Amino acid sequence: MGKQFVISSGHGDKVAGAIGILNEHDEAKRVVNRVYDILTKEYNGVGFKYHETTATTQNQNLSNIVSFHNGKTRDLDVSIHFNSATPAATGTECLYYDALTLSAKMSAAMASALGIVDRGAKERKELYFLRNTNKPAILLEVCFVTSEKDAVAYRNNFEDLCQAIAKVIAGHLGYSQKKVVGVSKPVSKPKKETKDTYYGKIYDQLVSLIDVGVYADVGFKKELKRYKKDTKINIEALVYSKSGVPRFLVKEKDTFAFVTANRKYVKAYTVDKK
Ligand SMILES: [Zn+2]
Repeated sequence: MGKQFVISSGHGDKVAGAIGILNEHDEAKRVVNRVYDILTKEYNGVGFKYHETTATTQNQNLSNIVSFHNGKTRDLDVSIHFNSATPAATGTECLYYDALTLSAKMSAAMASALGIVDRGAKERKELYFLRNTNKPAILLEVCFVTSEKDAVAYRNNFEDLCQAIAKVIAGHLGYSQKKVVGVSKPVSKPKKETKDTYYGKIYDQLVSLIDVGVYADVGFKKELKRYKKDTKINIEALVYSKSGVPRFLVKEKDTFAFVTANRKYVKAYTVDKK
């Protein structure tokens, strides 16, 4: 069996964390949920997540969280918190019992994703969570709930932050990213044209010869819209579906989309640039 992780949010539904511009417990839950999804869906990670919901005292809350962690087979315990201080305090921290290297990496990764200062790794052997979990444990202080700057950085970079946290955990536990076909940045693979039905290399533009579908995925499962006959579109790349069918990659607003490369439906051509 591969290595497993447990990740939990600090504090609980009935035991509030810090509340400033951000609510610590609410945001910690969001980060835990997203990081868990990334590790288990986008990576081949296996683990558990936990949010404490029943305790009415801080001691009971801490005890419930640690019991959940210690009850699982795992190689790493992760707790998500947010810091709180004066409005001027800013930056990321990662607290540890003995995982110094991992903590330093984590704090730096969060700082880089959020674009705020890296306050670094801090040894905190007295903290209940770090002291009582019996596997290597780290406690992330994502940013300051009391800082306007940190709150804005956090809201604007939530996905980058969660990806950065997941990447550090994945690196530590030896997870690898799953291969996804037809994601947003396919690499164009120009090949010589072999099949007459399809275009086999990239051109500058295409014009639709009939109404054609524009799809969110290279497999043409989700249609976004249709181009009417005679629509001209810039081509970004030529990509291939899982079964090897060529598609043209085009830009649709801020995202990429896929259009047929079948000569019956579109005409592709090079634009003369002078
Ligand atoms: Zn906290």
